Amino acid sequence: MDLGIAGKRALVTASSKGLGLGCARALAEADVDLVMNARGADDLARAADAIREEFGVSVSEVPGDITNEADRERVLTEAADPDILVTNAGGPPPGMWTDWSRDDFLGALDANMLTPIALMKACLPQMIANEWGRVVNITSQSVKSPIAVLGLSNAARAGLTGYVAGTARQVAPSGVTINNLLPGIHATDRATSLDTGVSEQKGISIDEARAEREATIPARRYGTADEFGATCAFLCSQHAGFIVGQNILLDGGAVNLSM
Ligand code: NAP
Repeated sequence: MDLGIAGKRALVTASSKGLGLGCARALAEADVDLVMNARGADDLARAADAIREEFGVSVSEVPGDITNEADRERVLTEAADPDILVTNAGGPPPGMWTDWSRDDFLGALDANMLTPIALMKACLPQMIANEWGRVVNITSQSVKSPIAVLGLSNAARAGLTGYVAGTARQVAPSGVTINNLLPGIHATDRATSLDTGVSEQKGISIDEARAEREATIPARRYGTADEFGATCAFLCSQHAGFIVGQNILLDGGAVNLSM
């Protein structure tokens, strides 16, 4: 399918690995020029080079912490009013409700709520002026089904979800869509670190920890960054202009919602 977005420009934050990289690759496959970002400059350069070579699109890399205001300004300056914005950042660590201080909450809110909001506030005005724009926020299945040990993530992502529910409807009249993609477990470094935690806690191998988790998913496997990216690219396509303010689960059926 031709996504109809060749020649558009996209900013994909936190995109040297994992789901962000999957989104960047799928947009590049649709001939979209990219600005990519991550903290680690070497991995970012490797990811950007691979995309340039495979898809022949223009890619700018801006190393930096997207949750830091000064770094974010550099990213936004390079992106210069993109047509497409995909927001992403690392998720907060797991723990117990007794563990989390005010500063832990402020860190999670900064990374997973206030950073995507700041990125949207910066990019939406020109999208509205152009009467075309696409925003996809990478959140989590925990928005629909909160995960007990991810209390910091549950809290911050709930705030972002509420903001998007209103803002998406305010910008929709201008041809701008905002939607959230909610990953269930996907085979990325983040999944490996979660499986490592379970393996250490239970005294089992990482493969056994993964097999246990896969058995809980109706699809009996982890998702891939490529299929996640393909969904993101579709939401950014010309065909998705009537999809507004949705929270779309990509979880192999793990969360059982009848509606
Ligand atoms: P990942 O494989 O660990 O990749 C994270 C990417 O983001 C890397 O490129 C990393 O590069 C970059 N990054 C992290 N923090 C950043 C920051 N502050 N500023 C700029 N770049 C940053 O993670 P993932 O699995 O793709 O997860 C992406 C998001 O989806 C996370 O918020 C995660 O909590 C959420 N999620 C993932 C899953 C899953 O199963 N994978 C499930 C539910 C939710 P640097 O480290 O070099 O910065």
